[in-house]
Amino acid sequence: MLELEDAVERILAAIPAAQAEKVLLSAAHGRVLLERMAATVGLPGFDNSAVDGYAVRAKDLAGACADAPVMLRLKGRVAAGETYQGELADGECARIFTGAPLPHGADSVAWQEDTRTEAAHPDQVQFLDVVKPWENIRFRGEDLQQGAVLGEPGDELTAGRINLLAASGFGVVRAGRRPVAGFIASGSELVEAGTALQPGMIYESNRPGLAALARQAGAVTKIYPLVTDNLAETQAVLEMAFEDCDFVVTSGGVSVGDTDFIKTAFEKIGGALDFWKVNMRPGRPFVFGRWREKFLFGLPGNPVSAFVTFLLLVRPAIRKWQGAKATGLPTFPGTLAEPLANANDRRFLMRVVVDASGQVRSAGSQASHIMASLASANGLVDVPAMTTLSAGAVVNVMRWE
Ligand code: AMP
Ligand code: MG
Repeated sequence: MLELEDAVERILAAIPAAQAEKVLLSAAHGRVLLERMAATVGLPGFDNSAVDGYAVRAKDLAGACADAPVMLRLKGRVAAGETYQGELADGECARIFTGAPLPHGADSVAWQEDTRTEAAHPDQVQFLDVVKPWENIRFRGEDLQQGAVLGEPGDELTAGRINLLAASGFGVVRAGRRPVAGFIASGSELVEAGTALQPGMIYESNRPGLAALARQAGAVTKIYPLVTDNLAETQAVLEMAFEDCDFVVTSGGVSVGDTDFIKTAFEKIGGALDFWKVNMRPGRPFVFGRWREKFLFGLPGNPVSAFVTFLLLVRPAIRKWQGAKATGLPTFPGTLAEPLANANDRRFLMRVVVDASGQVRSAGSQASHIMASLASANGLVDVPAMTTLSAGAVVNVMRWE
């Protein structure tokens, strides 16, 4: 049976390199950058004022204080978006506003709050405090030099990076194409929401949660109608889904039961199985296969198994498809507030709740059909077979919410 790491590696190796498409920066949040971006201008592009006040020469204000103000001649005014014509000479100042370019000749800006003006002398300003040379000035290039790298292929377009790219004048970026992922739920016991439950039937619950995880990872999702445990029907819906989608994600029907048709149906439509079964709990039965340049991810039906195998085995493929450098779940250290015990002979991906101070507790029952503990969990901790991690231990918590 494949180890989880080997299964992930095999999946990632099968996924082709990302295809680039042009995306408006305004629509690029969460997408993956596929080109190296460099600053076209320095940031700031010119020395400018950090405050509203007066551009001065610092030495002119030597000794200024409330009891002995220094008077300078007001020579002009420069607001954000304007430029100052001419040059300040000794004994002169210019009214300046935040973001406005520093006039030639000035070397600092005095706070407006440290000045006084009188209506009778509109061409004079009294300064009640000193300034240091270069005080209250934002220097050209102090944020970024022209040519500085703003992003590399594989970087996620976070809000902060989008902000930086916009500041450098970019409105369009080349991002990885998002995969179209189709979701199929198989099982004769499943019914759609809004339908009355007959004896023995249950509401289908895998497609919505898995599709939510897929969209969070950047996929475009499609939901297919429910399929009963029937070979021909399963083949038909797989064929339909492979027409439209890059990834087809099924749940249920991959075990060893007489009613498990996913593998057979997939092979009948020309799919090639790569592997089946991964050494993990929840979720041992898991099918990965290829249909032309498209991929099947056959997840187990148990809701928690489907969810966890999706996070650990499908999500990386969605990220890789888009060209992401980071394909695994983000991991954070946490401290166990109570022991986590795995009496099983397989590694157990346990559902945990991490609080704001990094304390980690079990999210409740760890059985594969318990959805309440999945809903309250915000992380997974990988507990090796036959192992108890004791309270106080520092663990890696994989997170998706
Ligand atoms: P299977 O993998 O088909 O053997 O299903 C394992 C368990 O998961 C059974 O109890 C199924 O009823 C349940 N199950 C399968 N698919 C779904 C689904 N889409 N929604 C909720 N439960 C499911
Ligand atoms: Mg079934």
